[in-house]
Amino acid sequence: MGPVPDLPNPAEAEALVRERVVPLPVESRPLAALAGAVLAQSVRAERDQPPFDRVTMDGVAIASQAWRDGRTSFRIAGTQAAGTPPLTLDDPADCIEVMTGAVLPPGCDCVIPVEWLVVDQGVATLGPDASVEPFLNVHTRGLDCREGDMLLARGTRIGPPELAVLASAGLPRAMVRSDPRIVIVATGDELVAPDEPIAAWQVRRSNSSALRGALNLRGFQRVAEDHLPDDHAVLANRLATHLATHEVVILSGGVSMGRFDHVPSVLRELGVVEVFHKVAQRPGKPLWFGIGPAGQTVFGLPGNPVSALVCLLRYAVPALYAMAGASPLAPEYVPLGAAFAVRPALSQFLPVVVERSPSLGLVAMPRPTRGSGDFISLLGTDGFVELPPGPREIAAGHLAPLYRW
Ligand code: AMP
Ligand code: MG
Repeated sequence: MGPVPDLPNPAEAEALVRERVVPLPVESRPLAALAGAVLAQSVRAERDQPPFDRVTMDGVAIASQAWRDGRTSFRIAGTQAAGTPPLTLDDPADCIEVMTGAVLPPGCDCVIPVEWLVVDQGVATLGPDASVEPFLNVHTRGLDCREGDMLLARGTRIGPPELAVLASAGLPRAMVRSDPRIVIVATGDELVAPDEPIAAWQVRRSNSSALRGALNLRGFQRVAEDHLPDDHAVLANRLATHLATHEVVILSGGVSMGRFDHVPSVLRELGVVEVFHKVAQRPGKPLWFGIGPAGQTVFGLPGNPVSALVCLLRYAVPALYAMAGASPLAPEYVPLGAAFAVRPALSQFLPVVVERSPSLGLVAMPRPTRGSGDFISLLGTDGFVELPPGPREIAAGHLAPLYRW
C-alpha cells in the first residue's frame, strides 16, 4: 500500500480507496439472479461451440462434390430437424432436407437454402444461379471456441453475453461476490424528512434520496437509511450498530471543521482507521475515508448536496466495484463543449449537459452550480466532468472524464 499524501488529488484518493477496501464475501447464486453481479470463479467452455457442424439455413444438405461433378437435382432421402440425432447421406445423388439448428448430416458438407431450390415430387433442383461450396451455410464445430477454453475470468461483471455463456457452459449457478449491505447515514440537527412538518430554519433531508438513487441505478439494492443528530454520544452509539451490520457505511455531513462536526472523531473512537480526510478537489474537499475494524468501508461525505453526490460517484461507487473484485470501469472521456476557467488550485468537478455538436460530436457543456449547496442547478444535467487544478483556462475540446449521475 502506498503512502498517504497530505492532501491527495482525486486520482490518488481513488487509488487509496481501491488499495484499502476489503473484498466482499462469495456466494452461490442461480442464473436468474446473476445479472449485474461480479464473478468470483472462472468459467471454461463445457463443449466445442458450436458443439457440432450446425446448419444455419433451412434447405437441403448435399455433398458439394456432386454439384461440382454436374449434378443439380437431388432426391430427398430424409429430413434432419434441429434436436434430432444425425442422419447419414449414403448416396451423393441424394440430399437431406435440413432445418436451421440441425446437425449437418455426415456425408454432406454444405446447405442449399430453400430460396435457391425448386422441390417437386421429392426431388430438390438447384437453379442455374446456385453457387455451391464446402461449408456453405454451415457453422462448423468448434469455430467459436473449443471445449475447455477459458471464457470468463474472475472479476467479470455479468451482463447478457456472460449470462448466455454461463448457461451454455451448463452452469445453473455461479459463485459471485455478495451484494454489499450499505447504510446511508444523514447527519445534521437541521435535517427534516420529506414527510415531516418543517420550520423556517430547518432543511429537508435530500442527500439520502439522491445517494440511494445513484446506488440503486448501479444495481446496489441492499441500502438502508438512518438520520442522526450532531450529538457525539448518539452518533457513537448508532454508528457502532451500523458498523456491526453493514459492509459499507456512507455518512453525509459532519466532516468539516465546525464545532458540531463530530463524524471523524466518533469514527476514530469506533476503531475506524482514517485513510484520508480532505481531497484536493472542489466541491467535496472535506471528504473522509476510512476502514472499519472488520474491514468495513466508511465514507464521510460532505453534507452539501452537490459535494455528497459527486463524492459518492467519484469514490464510493468505484469502491463498491473494487470490493466486488471487478476491474475499474474505464471512464468515458468527452470533450468540453465550451471553455471553462478553473480558479482554485484544486481539481474541479463540473456538472455538464452532454450534447451533440456538429464539429466535435458528443460534448460536455458546462453547467456550473451556485456553489456546492445548489442542487437545483443539477436538474437537467447528465453528470459531471473532472477538470485539472487551476488557476487555468481550460479550452473547449479538452478531453475530460465524465461521471454520469
Ligand atoms: P455539513 O457538511 O454537515 O456541514 O453540511 C453542509 C451543508 O449541507 C449544510 O447546509 C447542511 O444543511 C447541508 N446538508 C447536510 N446534510 C444534508 C442532507 N442530508 N440533505 C440536504 N442537505 C444537507
Ligand atoms: Mg452538518
